[in-house]
Amino acid sequence: NLRHFSLLNQEFGREAGDNIIRQHYDGLMKIIGKEGYIGRLGGDNFVCLAPKDKINEITEYLNEAVIRIDEYSSVKVPSSVGIFVPDEGFKPKDPGDIMGPIISAMRVAQTAGRGRIIFFNENLMEQRQKNARIQQKLSDALANEEFRPYYQPKVNVKTGESVGGEALCRWFHKDRIIPPAEFIPALEQTSDICKLDLYMLEHVCKEQRAWLDGGEGRILVPMSINFSRKNIMNMDLPNTIERILDKYNIPHDAIEIELTETTNDVEFNDLRRTVTELYAKGISASVDDFGVGYSSLNLLKDIPWTTIKIDKNFVPDEEDGENSVKHKMFCGVLAMAKNLGFKCVAEGVETDSQIRMVRDAGCEIIQGFYYDKPLPREEFEARMVTKKY
Ligand code: C2E
Ligand code: MG
Ligand code: MG
Repeated sequence: NLRHFSLLNQEFGREAGDNIIRQHYDGLMKIIGKEGYIGRLGGDNFVCLAPKDKINEITEYLNEAVIRIDEYSSVKVPSSVGIFVPDEGFKPKDPGDIMGPIISAMRVAQTAGRGRIIFFNENLMEQRQKNARIQQKLSDALANEEFRPYYQPKVNVKTGESVGGEALCRWFHKDRIIPPAEFIPALEQTSDICKLDLYMLEHVCKEQRAWLDGGEGRILVPMSINFSRKNIMNMDLPNTIERILDKYNIPHDAIEIELTETTNDVEFNDLRRTVTELYAKGISASVDDFGVGYSSLNLLKDIPWTTIKIDKNFVPDEEDGENSVKHKMFCGVLAMAKNLGFKCVAEGVETDSQIRMVRDAGCEIIQGFYYDKPLPREEFEARMVTKKY
């Protein structure tokens, strides 16, 4: 995959873009020779068969391909590359035996900041098999209700009250509690994750309902639920969410949907549509992990969020000092968000010194290990009536 190729198209025009692809192809073809083959999968994605002894030359070329545009300009065209070198005697039974490993390596290459050329190896093979096993287990695990929400309180730093919570998924599988990092990435490779997200919403609503029905005058704190970005191209999502809330008769303002920043225009439009429709139904949405993705000011200008969750990487510590970039950015983002009418939550606050820094900067709501880890339902519910920090 030619990285960021659409930018080159925008910058130099489509004709120059076509020309860049052609030259890039010619350059590669010159190396791999007549025994090799390059096919275009579509857009800026290519697959190439080449003799083994050409690999070094090929990787060097793909790393540094410089293409001349005209007399005055040339551009570097970096690529993300997955390489599969089969063992002697490898006999593929179908195209997937070759494309599978290539695509696995390619996916790693695309997400890697550096090392954009990735060889398929044992580790990747294991990872692939592990992911496949998780994907296979999903429907049974959903049917057997092996996934459960844990709840992490969001605390008002001034009053010490739990003013809300975030539902985080835990997988109870064979006497083990598996954390999301071990299964969410596998589920995000397909739209499987969407099933889990709706399951979580349904379970949280069910538990909120049971809590309300459990006694006189119980208060409900708003609960947020993570929805993977994979969901946002689903045009029915806002209606589906609303239907689940209504099924359990949960007030719309008692549930908040957490979504992360998007990486491109198409996703941005989907995100805006989704959040706008939720907003019209009285269901809030928050930007999760704000700051670490591709935050643009449009994200705040054009989308009716209720809450911004500032990622833990941007939460300052007294050690950083008042003059640190981190502290200044935190205060700046906070001031801007407040001016725009958003609530702010600082995520991942762990220490006294962070608490002081964050509180003095004027951030009122804090979620982090300083107060509580994500808790099983019973423990969280105990907090709701009893605990003030
Ligand atoms: P997130 O939505 O940003 O959730 C916050 C994560 O930070 C949680 O990890 C939480 O346990 C952790 N955390 C909270 N306070 C602290 C702290 O003070 N220090 C540190 N170091 N960490 C803190 P967890 O539960 O392992 O979840 C990880 C991620 O998995 C979540 O990040 C979210 O992106 C994803 N996730 C969890 N449940 C779901 C789900 O049901 N659906 C989807 N799509 N994603 C989920
Ligand atoms: Mg979250
Ligand atoms: Mg977060």
